[in-house]
Amino acid sequence: MTPAGPEDELDFTVRAVWREERVSCPHPNVLRAFLDDALPEGAQAFLRFHLQESQCPYCNAAVEEMQARDREAGKVHLEDLKDRLLRSTVSALRQAKK
Ligand SMILES: [Zn+2]
Repeated sequence: MTPAGPEDELDFTVRAVWREERVSCPHPNVLRAFLDDALPEGAQAFLRFHLQESQCPYCNAAVEEMQARDREAGKVHLEDLKDRLLRSTVSALRQAKK
């Protein structure tokens, strides 16, 4: 067995730190709660810092994706609502004719 040289050791440390940095990223569920403004103020501030000051590319990408999905879901929901409103209006008019 050959002992690891100093360079290998350095490489290992950098990678370990990098991995730890990633581990410090909040879980997607926490990002979700942040978007819903559902976190305690301290956590909310930490998330804001992580996203806006640190500009973490991973979390910003995740948040953008969630927001895009929210917009899509909102649109669908609104159209569904309009559709239902229209149908209930039509049936109300039909009832009124009787
Ligand atoms: Zn992050």
